[in-house]
Amino acid sequence: MEVALVKPQGFCSGVTRAVQLAHQAKEDHKDKTVYILGMLAHNQSLIDSLTNEGFVTLDGSEYEEINKLQKGDVLVFTAHGHDEKLDKIAKEKGLITYDATCFKVQDNLNKIKREIANGHQVIYIGQSGHKEANAALTVSDKVSLYDTKLLINYQLITDKSPFVLNQTTLNFYELRKYHEDILKHYPGARIENEICNATRLRQEAILKIEKDTDLIVIVGHPKSSNSNKLYDIALANYPNALVVMVSDLSELKKIPLDCKRKAAVGSGASTPQYIVDEIYNYLISK
Ligand code: SF4
Repeated sequence: MEVALVKPQGFCSGVTRAVQLAHQAKEDHKDKTVYILGMLAHNQSLIDSLTNEGFVTLDGSEYEEINKLQKGDVLVFTAHGHDEKLDKIAKEKGLITYDATCFKVQDNLNKIKREIANGHQVIYIGQSGHKEANAALTVSDKVSLYDTKLLINYQLITDKSPFVLNQTTLNFYELRKYHEDILKHYPGARIENEICNATRLRQEAILKIEKDTDLIVIVGHPKSSNSNKLYDIALANYPNALVVMVSDLSELKKIPLDCKRKAAVGSGASTPQYIVDEIYNYLISK
């Protein structure tokens, strides 16, 4: 089979830094267990490999998990950001912390704080339940979620010029429709597009896949927002291709591909490169 790799591939800068910081924590505290508060980034293979190295991912409620830790324990906060109350709890408990929050996510959180301090309300376009959105919402009750599925209760916003920003990994091409809807209600809304480069470049690259491609494989974990968006964009723009999203080669092997001739392989920003390489090698051997 003819196979094209849709670039960029590999970890984005935020995930790369998170992995490096976790290893730094381990290096600094060789005699201790290093705990990670949730998935360091949304990819199960990455989490499994960290577990094999001795890291412990705490996957229950963040507040319950952090309260179980003891003074002197080492804790890494994940790339997606977190409620600042957790920093306070960690400090009070005497934990040793490493914060892997991506700079882009932190930049958004800082903008929200600035707007709240200036007396404004904030509309945050994001996915309900996603860690990055949760972190933004916990900054203040003046932040309202514009859920990409449920939309928003506009009655909550009394500010005529609310600040509007978004989760970094949304669909770049759908964002405009949310902005238009908000502007209908608040012509004075101040809107910033906060989709990160890693997400935008991958989405743009999906649209450049050759039109006669009959198989598009997106490699990413179901919890990875940016991987899901690549899948959505491929599905919407290549009606004649089989579009699949898989976590790894074993999942792809379950899909019959006998009549496929030309494939393209894209991957999310938290997908380890070796998984993409395995899938590429499998497809070119078909
Ligand atoms: S996808 Fe974007 S926001 Fe998320 S960790 Fe990577 S660079 Fe940061």
